[in-house]
Amino acid sequence: MNGNFAADLQAVFASHGQRPALRMADGEIWTYTHLAERTARLATVLAQVGVAPGDRVLAQVGKTPEAVALYLATLQAGGVYVPLNAAYTAAEVAYFLADAQPRLFVRDPASADVAGGHGGWAVLTLGAGGGSLVQAMSAAKSCHDVAERNGDDLAALVYTSGTTGRSKGAMLTHDNIRSNAVALRRCWGWRDDDVLLHALPLFHVHGLFIALHCALLGGTPTIFLPRFDVGAVKRHLPESTVMMGVPTFYTRLLEDADFDRRHCGGVRVFISGSAPLMPATFDAWQARTGHRILERYGMSETIINTSNPLHGERVAGSVGFALPGVSVRVTGEAGEPLPPGEVGDIEVRGENVFKGYWRQPDKTAEEFRPDGHFITGDLGVMDAEGRLSIVGRARDLIISGGYNVYPKEVESVIDELDAVAESAVIGVHHPDFGEGVVAVIVPSGEPVSAGQVAAFLEGRLARFKQPKQVVNVEALPRNSMGKVQKNRLREEFSGLFPSTSRAI
Ligand code: AMP
Repeated sequence: MNGNFAADLQAVFASHGQRPALRMADGEIWTYTHLAERTARLATVLAQVGVAPGDRVLAQVGKTPEAVALYLATLQAGGVYVPLNAAYTAAEVAYFLADAQPRLFVRDPASADVAGGHGGWAVLTLGAGGGSLVQAMSAAKSCHDVAERNGDDLAALVYTSGTTGRSKGAMLTHDNIRSNAVALRRCWGWRDDDVLLHALPLFHVHGLFIALHCALLGGTPTIFLPRFDVGAVKRHLPESTVMMGVPTFYTRLLEDADFDRRHCGGVRVFISGSAPLMPATFDAWQARTGHRILERYGMSETIINTSNPLHGERVAGSVGFALPGVSVRVTGEAGEPLPPGEVGDIEVRGENVFKGYWRQPDKTAEEFRPDGHFITGDLGVMDAEGRLSIVGRARDLIISGGYNVYPKEVESVIDELDAVAESAVIGVHHPDFGEGVVAVIVPSGEPVSAGQVAAFLEGRLARFKQPKQVVNVEALPRNSMGKVQKNRLREEFSGLFPSTSRAI
């Protein structure tokens, strides 16, 4: 049997031909027949350019239906899809080109011109005009042959966001993406009449795999918005049954006073992930819409690991239970499993777990236990029922005076202050404590003073966890998936405790 995930999709497309696959904001519709046909033509063009099984196709393209067809055509041709954030500069792209060594680089016509050909790759665009794949596609014959692949052959190389050091390519196989899509559809009870509202980018696993595969594998329609926009989401939500988003989608919608349950009448589930959903957002969303957001946890290397239940209690601040077929455990320093209630490293094993980092066997070996569990780099705690809560990234852990301080614990308490809209707690170099705890606060009105924070935390948190400095900022720096970039905050505030400062 062909292990190529494109074969599974092709079978679904063939039996759902006249159904809308992608419905664009301007009303244009691509049916499943349409999508299959454009994919088949693009597959011919890829073959003409020389893309053979195992070759990488690096795509830095906008969010268009053609980009979806390009992804599918790459799989069909047996290629390895390498999506890149459209915001990367030419210098950054040069690094990815050198690392991935693609056969073909597809770039946005609007993006800076990156020298093509030097590394042996062809360069094309997705727009209209010369050198365009879309133009070549219109003249190409269809090729419906799906290249033979094993389930553990590579389907995609997803570069991690690289907040420390160089970005690494996570090698995802056909089995990884298929097994996860099948598990999610079951877990979230995907229905034949579901309509997905898709406002996520396509260069990340969230938009490309998690959201899109649920819909494509069911032959159900997707409302395909080019980006997140409150007005567009409000317009299209009434026609949707499922929305997947990062927490910022939910906070932005809540900021719009006109947004309420009128817009959510047909929605059966709101799903959130890629960054922590604040319990306050969970509560405000329930109060405004009547829906309890379903939060789940995943990453580029493993797609989705855990999810709150579709039926059953969705707990704010928890990312739920391991998906079927996925083993999730919390371990101590020597890799020993910890009992419920203790904080440790989150480790994951299952068909969803990637094959390793591209051309980095040493790095790969470091991050896997001998029994195959991947050390995610996240810290968490599990309750007696197996519900997981994330405490933060291991690298964000603060060690102050020899004590471990988990930023999320401190942030959750600070966020209870009415004067605080949100906060990020970081550790920066401190001459006496090694690291000093710093609270970076976005005030909801007037600036929040260190005294106010100290008074509030007194009796609520142990002294060593309390911030030694409080700074007010207008907004927290976030990446395009809504994750707070703590590395940037650590850099910006690295000099807060000069070497002459004394212990407080
Ligand atoms: P990425 O590889 O860009 O998808 O980033 C993955 C990381 O995002 C994970 O390792 C977590 O640190 C974080 N993350 C994803 N989902 C959640 C969630 N629901 N709550 C908290 N952090 C999350």
